[in-house]
Amino acid sequence: MRQTKIIATVGPASDTDDTLDALIAAGTDIVRLNFSHGTHESHAATFARVRAAAKRADREVAILQDLGGPKIRTGRLEGGRPLRLEAGSELRIVTGDALGREGLISTAFEGLARGVGAGDHLLLADGTIELEVLESDGREILTRVVEGGMLGEHKGINAPGVPLPTSAVTLKDMEDLQFGLSLGVDLVALSFVQTADDMRRARQIVHENDGDVPLIAKIERPQALDQLDDILACSDMVMIARGDLGLELPLQKVPLAQKTITRRARSLKVPVILATQVLESMTVEGRPTRAEVSDAANAVEDGVDAIMLSGETATGAHPARVVQTLDAIIREAEATLTTRSPLPRVGSNGHDHTQAICEAAVALAERSNARAIVAVTRGGSTARRLSALRPRVPIIATTDRDDTARRLSPYWGVMPICTDIAENVSAAGLLIGQQIVRRRLVHAGDSVVLVSINPDLANNNSNYIKIQQL
Ligand code: PGA
Ligand code: MN
Repeated sequence: MRQTKIIATVGPASDTDDTLDALIAAGTDIVRLNFSHGTHESHAATFARVRAAAKRADREVAILQDLGGPKIRTGRLEGGRPLRLEAGSELRIVTGDALGREGLISTAFEGLARGVGAGDHLLLADGTIELEVLESDGREILTRVVEGGMLGEHKGINAPGVPLPTSAVTLKDMEDLQFGLSLGVDLVALSFVQTADDMRRARQIVHENDGDVPLIAKIERPQALDQLDDILACSDMVMIARGDLGLELPLQKVPLAQKTITRRARSLKVPVILATQVLESMTVEGRPTRAEVSDAANAVEDGVDAIMLSGETATGAHPARVVQTLDAIIREAEATLTTRSPLPRVGSNGHDHTQAICEAAVALAERSNARAIVAVTRGGSTARRLSALRPRVPIIATTDRDDTARRLSPYWGVMPICTDIAENVSAAGLLIGQQIVRRRLVHAGDSVVLVSINPDLANNNSNYIKIQQL
């Protein structure tokens, strides 16, 4: 079993039944719907296709809704024709929806012209075009093109180091989030989070809509790095969003940021997702570069929970092959590299019997010949705690709730299965033993550690560890 999980972004190259089947067969654990693109109608159709494909494969595949956030974009262009921007020429950026033409483009974001001043630099279209601000009057920015190139419509604008008046949850995000919750997405990611308040605001909206969906903070602004611990404390998971982070920060600072986020998140037991350009060359090519393979293997070694594919599966030439390649890289790294730096265990949280039971279950599994730890869980907390302890054997999370099963799929080492569970430990052992043998997750005769936790210690039936031969 592979322990590090794979997230694949679905897009025009993969949004068909056949390709989704192939992505899931290749090992996709989570499918990302990117709300920077598409309509509610198109996302609803994709959502249904993914659910149907997961059902055909009999796998608990989670669907992640990624909200676009306050990404600043250029406007439309005359005739939709890309604009050639020549180095040295002047370019005006006006606020509003004017059609772009020679010497002029627009942006709908009002804060840009108010936020920037002479000497600031702007990066367009993923950093391929660079502009220097000559002046801004609060409505209109005059710039000089430093690095030229072809500019299409709706391309990203980044203003590195410039604090902009944005909240991570835009009006569009609120509508998208409500829509996502109505579809029943399993996880929601927030883009361009700057503070813990951004996470709290999103959580509030989720609660107001009677939801309890886990929230992922995407770290892609330098401001977020300054507030990292506060943000982590308010997040169910964190994503290292290297795409925008590499535009907002000097590129050479991204590796350390990645290491810092991974280390802090792991010590606070917040699952980490590594994202962007993981196997970028495979968007076109049939094989990745050595550097890409090395980067992915190193992320496994550092202990990230999941690795995300973006354009590789959304718009690339070989979506399923990319997942197969990442699967092979991860398996090899897990088998050969992993040093499994132990996390702080007993004593770190004072008196907490639920944590102590999970730590004891991991110790029992490691000091016996158990083939798996079986978490018997309703809401998922037993499996989440076990995952953070990084045991050597697989964590089979058995739950009677399909939403819990899917929400557990990003967690390192957790294989979620939806099945009947019983309150009583001996009944649970029998029932679950049969299920996991039938699904060939373990063999008859193997021993497993069964564990369940409940904060309510008076509830004697749901706090236990048991080693059992199947
Ligand atoms: P995006 O986020 O793909 O939604 O931009 C990830 C990143 O910026 O790395
Ligand atoms: Mn981004």
